[in-house]
Amino acid sequence: MNQQLRSEPVAFIDIGAQRRRLGKSIDEAVGRVLTHCQFVNGPEVTELENQLAAFSGAKYVVTCASGTDALLMVLMAKGVGPGDAVLCPSFTFCATGESVALTGATPVFVDVDASTFNIDVASLQHGVAAAKRLGLKPKAVIAVDLFGQSADHDAVEALAKAEGMFVLDDAAQSFGASYKGKRLGGFGAITATSFFPAKPLGCFGDGGAIFTDDADLVSVLRSIRVHGQGSDKYDNVRLGLTGRLDTMQAAILLEKLKIFEDEIAARNQVAERYARDLGNVVTVPHIAAGNTSVWAQYTIRLPQGDREGFAARLKAEGVPTAIYYPKPMHQQTAYRHFPVADGGLPVSEALSSDVISLPMHPYLDEATQGRVVRAVRNAVSG
Ligand SMILES: *Cc1c(COP(=O)(O)O)cnc(C)c1O
Repeated sequence: MNQQLRSEPVAFIDIGAQRRRLGKSIDEAVGRVLTHCQFVNGPEVTELENQLAAFSGAKYVVTCASGTDALLMVLMAKGVGPGDAVLCPSFTFCATGESVALTGATPVFVDVDASTFNIDVASLQHGVAAAKRLGLKPKAVIAVDLFGQSADHDAVEALAKAEGMFVLDDAAQSFGASYKGKRLGGFGAITATSFFPAKPLGCFGDGGAIFTDDADLVSVLRSIRVHGQGSDKYDNVRLGLTGRLDTMQAAILLEKLKIFEDEIAARNQVAERYARDLGNVVTVPHIAAGNTSVWAQYTIRLPQGDREGFAARLKAEGVPTAIYYPKPMHQQTAYRHFPVADGGLPVSEALSSDVISLPMHPYLDEATQGRVVRAVRNAVSG
């Protein structure tokens, strides 16, 4: 390998490469907003909602200010509050459980499946039992589609239905992925996503969206998005938020959506290479039958041992890594007083000590993929 290549560190996520590819089209889209000056509720917002609906197959899309607001707005619209239990996996980004706690409801943490890292339905049942014993009303499940891959939605939906709960799908990391041939957001569940820059479809700031087929829910969400406004602008009928997506971000997302399919394909090529060349030295991700992934993260499990040393050996080769997540939610300071499913959460705890994520983005060329592969193989054997 030549010195030049060796000295340049690999990008973990390369937002700059996409920016260079889109160049002028983004500049022009932003320029149009600067010309019409409708910075809030501009025409690009409605256009984006229509295009996201077409892309996902959802009947309605409500854009909003972040992925966290997307989750929170749905819980608010459904009247979730004190005395309610909302079940969610512990092995996830904190916003999943945070949105629940913000409503005054109680997050009840459940375990995940060791091969997909997504919610474990047996543990979900144990979480419902724990909630009931504590006198809470099981009201909802937030299924998370972690690292780009869909949860087992049919199984979650069946259990939720039997227990009288609704399902909110946290697809912040997985918009663009599919479940049994349908895109997330397009198979009937209420789905939330995020457009944070590092997500598979990211804007240049914060943003999010909600996908649903329920027209009544949409009208409540649109009200919550603007402080709970009613038909009379000055008679607010419920509590809400400043929850809108900026027009500028919508304009940027419209340009990015045009290359999103192509980027998903490129991510899948990187994932195939990693799986082929690393599958015999580390535990590579398992994609369940019926799923496709958008590879928000490429997360491997290490054989017993020294994760810090492994990361340091990769870093010395110019290959960055990240740990998602070093602590499951039920062990974090702000959340450890909340209940967990009966039987505990052993898989979440084990994963948080042995997972590590490798560079993953659509602009990782074959030479650089090879560099990552060699560095991992050397680090495992060394
Ligand atoms: C990023 C993320 C969120 C929150 O999205 P923001 O846009 O950052 O508010 C929620 N859930 C999961 C699983 C995430 O990864």
